[in-house]
Amino acid sequence: GYSSMSGIPGVRERTLIAVKPDGVHRRFVGEIMQRFERKGFKLVGLKMLQAPEELLSQHYQDLRRKPFYPSLLQYMTSGPLVVMVWEGHNVVRTSRVMVGDTNPAEAHAGTIRGDFSIHISRNVVHASDSVEGAQREIQLWFHGKELMD
Ligand code: UDP
Ligand code: MG
Repeated sequence: GYSSMSGIPGVRERTLIAVKPDGVHRRFVGEIMQRFERKGFKLVGLKMLQAPEELLSQHYQDLRRKPFYPSLLQYMTSGPLVVMVWEGHNVVRTSRVMVGDTNPAEAHAGTIRGDFSIHISRNVVHASDSVEGAQREIQLWFHGKELMD
């Protein structure tokens, strides 16, 4: 049964997925959530918010010196985000595959970015890129009490 799977390493792994302002504006929230649900992952946290710049600067701390950083902040504050925590076996790696390449021009058809976007500066969705990164980002965006067990 499902409960016996909890002994398998990585089965309770968690990742942060965010529908970016263009994805919310274009009504992709349901589509994106449905892909994660149908894949078999479990939703354990969900919120909609207008992201404060301070939070985004921590979220994207490794990109602060990139030339696109100012426009990235502008993009990410251009409207509300829908931020989620999804749980399941290898969810960090698998969700990166489901989301597709950072550059939608390189993202395969069938991935979220491959299906719904054309430009790297409007790529619809965020997904954590490592287990450690996911833990850091989840703590940034959610209080422990906001996550379901
Ligand atoms: N980004 C951009 N231009 C670039 C590279 C990245 O606008 O040349 C934006 C894009 O929204 C991307 C985000 O910065 O999703 C974070 O970049 P990262 O390399 O972490 O890509 P991701 O992990 O989102 O695939
Ligand atoms: Mg990244």
